[in-house]
Amino acid sequence: MSTASINGWCISSISPASQSSLIKKTTLRPSVFARLNSSPSPPSLIQNKPVFAAPAPIITPTWREDMGKDSYEEAIDGLKKLLSEKGELKAAAAAKVEQITAELQTPTSNGAFNPVERIKTGFVHFKKEKYDKSPALYGELAKGQSPKFMVFACSDSRVCPSHVLDFQPGEAFVVRNVANLVPPYDKTKYAGVGSAVEYAVLHLKVEYIVVIGHSACGGIKGLLSFPFDGTSTTDFIEDWVKIALPAKNKVKSEFAGASFPELCGHCEKEAVNVSLGNLLSYPFVREGLVNKTLGLKGGYYDFVKGTFELWGLEFGLNPSFSV
Ligand SMILES: [Zn+2]
Repeated sequence: MSTASINGWCISSISPASQSSLIKKTTLRPSVFARLNSSPSPPSLIQNKPVFAAPAPIITPTWREDMGKDSYEEAIDGLKKLLSEKGELKAAAAAKVEQITAELQTPTSNGAFNPVERIKTGFVHFKKEKYDKSPALYGELAKGQSPKFMVFACSDSRVCPSHVLDFQPGEAFVVRNVANLVPPYDKTKYAGVGSAVEYAVLHLKVEYIVVIGHSACGGIKGLLSFPFDGTSTTDFIEDWVKIALPAKNKVKSEFAGASFPELCGHCEKEAVNVSLGNLLSYPFVREGLVNKTLGLKGGYYDFVKGTFELWGLEFGLNPSFSV
């Protein structure tokens, strides 16, 4: 039997003798357990169980035929092959396990980053300062959600819309992806985004969809840098950011003499407009606009200047407000 660690989770029981039953014997278990439930009754927001004391059935995948058996088995087999064939990798993995174990035993002794400790500390702070202090809010949220906003924001770690716009839990249904893009309606290629828009509009009945771009966006920088000439250097990124190619073409023709950083700034805003236009390709979005139950807004957060702009469906950059 060997043990490996992936992002702090341990995959164990991978042995040559158990190949045929690899999946059933492969378990995921948490790196650390800690009871955070200081109140008499457990929090009910998430599965009615304290997060760090989740019972095994929640965190151990139970084998089901509909779990995509082949790809899951292939992935585990691939990892097993790597660990068995690459002696040096196996040693590195074992060393990492030892390191993580040591860190867990003395979490702050050497000052090294400890992801488990960071997450635990973060949740303890949230629970003490927010969750336990707002029983009415979290009691309501336990019954369901009724957000007025659907928000598209970039995955960039600096632009969390809940922080920037002070959204409270339950206020905004959020999708974050590279360059905050909304692709056009496509049932197979973009099912992830499509299902989120469908759920937000038809089931949650959000009143506004807001697409928020931001300064210094790496995705937009990529969009302006990739040649899109048939060659490709990335597995996913070029294909994804080219959703906003119309924005690239527009700003390159409108601001022909502009510097690259200036072009990026213009394109960061124009890509928001492309996404607003793409939202119109979703039939339930069009219906909401016609019935005036839904509105679309574009936004731009500049974290260098500390400003925020908001504009409407007119696709101009005439801001509803700018602060
Ligand atoms: Zn970005």
